[in-house]
Amino acid sequence: MIVKRPVLKWWEKIYLPTILDGLITTFKHLFKKRVTVQYPEEKWVPPPKFRGAPVLLTGLDGREKCTSCKLCMFICPPQAIRIVAGETEHPIEKYPKEFYIDFGLCIFCGYCEEVCPCEAIWLKHKYEMADFDRTNLIFDKEKLLEMGREEPYLKGKEKPLKKG
Ligand code: SF4
Ligand code: SF4
Repeated sequence: MIVKRPVLKWWEKIYLPTILDGLITTFKHLFKKRVTVQYPEEKWVPPPKFRGAPVLLTGLDGREKCTSCKLCMFICPPQAIRIVAGETEHPIEKYPKEFYIDFGLCIFCGYCEEVCPCEAIWLKHKYEMADFDRTNLIFDKEKLLEMGREEPYLKGKEKPLKKG
């Protein structure tokens, strides 16, 4: 296959119109509203659909929703989730005896939320997860449930079926 290349005019060859075009765009933005956030002094407020760190949710009855099916653990690309299942008093029900998320590995992809059949794990608004010690980034079940209760969209509410 022969690709026909356009023949450039002389003014296109010196790139002057393109440079001028770029300068006009820059000039226009000089008078627009400032969008740069002076982080970390100035905190960024995420939009409602923002997906940050995954947390564990409880139902309206206060019980944790997770049934320890481990789908999230198997789907997680960086293998950031570790679950140890425990038996409940009901013969066919399980609960997570241990549930860890390593935020040093988590990439906030949201696969865990997508795959969860119980809507027990949800990506919330927290995005500041940095720490000097990686071991501090491994959050256990209690910490994840606590983060779920802190979520303003969830306080006293069930998770909506669809975000937005
Ligand atoms: S958001 Fe992605 S990387 Fe993080 S725990 Fe869930 S599946 Fe794993
Ligand atoms: S959070 Fe959801 S997907 Fe993960 S183990 Fe619990 S019920 Fe299964």
